[in-house]
Amino acid sequence: MVGMTVPTIALNDGNSIPQLGFGVFLVDPAETESIVTSALAAGYRHIDTAAAYKNEEGVGRAIANSGIARDELFITTKLWNGDQGTRSAHDAIDRSLANLGLEYVDLYLIHWPVPAQGRYVESWLALEQIKAAGKARSIGVSNFKEHHLNEVIDASSTVPSVNQIELHPKFAQRELRAYAAERNIAIESWGPLGQGKYSLAELPEIAAAAEAHGVTPAQVVIRWHLQNGIVVFPKTNRAERMKENFDVFGFELSADEMAAIDSLDDGTRLGPDPDTFSLT
Ligand code: NAD
Repeated sequence: MVGMTVPTIALNDGNSIPQLGFGVFLVDPAETESIVTSALAAGYRHIDTAAAYKNEEGVGRAIANSGIARDELFITTKLWNGDQGTRSAHDAIDRSLANLGLEYVDLYLIHWPVPAQGRYVESWLALEQIKAAGKARSIGVSNFKEHHLNEVIDASSTVPSVNQIELHPKFAQRELRAYAAERNIAIESWGPLGQGKYSLAELPEIAAAAEAHGVTPAQVVIRWHLQNGIVVFPKTNRAERMKENFDVFGFELSADEMAAIDSLDDGTRLGPDPDTFSLT
């Protein structure tokens, strides 16, 4: 609901991030401006895009037309695999900022480690410079496993503020979350609703909680992310679902309900394995 206050999470660099946002993976570039405009009208102030989504321009137009003050928005974009390396990372952030029509992003992430290229440490050092230049307020990574994180932490003076990883009830990433908590790295869930690839409503643990609180299965799962202290930005093209996914602050899952949803983790990875994914 408009005006509803989204909690923020403190990042390890002193900045903070709204815990609930709106993701635009697979949002058609031609429709992005109108879809993000609807999301902003529904109350979202945190938008997660990426150079690879090819829709940064639409996000930027929606922001420009919204009249919302820049400092009320939290905008994330990501360095694509083909742009890793020092010079190309600097060029890539400049292109993303031009596409978005912004002077800075709130968060810039390395999209995937791409170990086959062997350039994520070098790219991380470039992100440190990009932050120092004021082009990104905070910097982080995405799809990094523990060993990738250890490498960038050992090779630099900055611990990533964020690791954005595949995370949903069937793939809860408990070990990586525990590692991140020890190092004060915030976790963001991608595919938080399982990308629609399995039915949330057909899982009795989720259906029971939805019934008990008079909410939808998607709202239960978003609540599960939030109550776990995770940052989450479900994607939908539909205005009713934008409102539904934002309307998650009027109920709370019990410890038993949280534990029941925790029990659904069976290691189902829906997306690529970060150790081998090398698409450019
Ligand atoms: P998601 O889990 O948010 O699933 C989106 C799908 O869930 C929708 O297409 C729709 O089918 C369904 N859905 C949405 N709201 C619903 C509702 N209220 N009821 C029923 N079904 C509903 O998956 P996602 O879009 O892949 O992930 C969210 C965001 O995470 C993306 O938009 C993107 O910003 C980010 N992401 C990042 C990476 C990465 O590699 N860093 C990868 C994928 C996604």
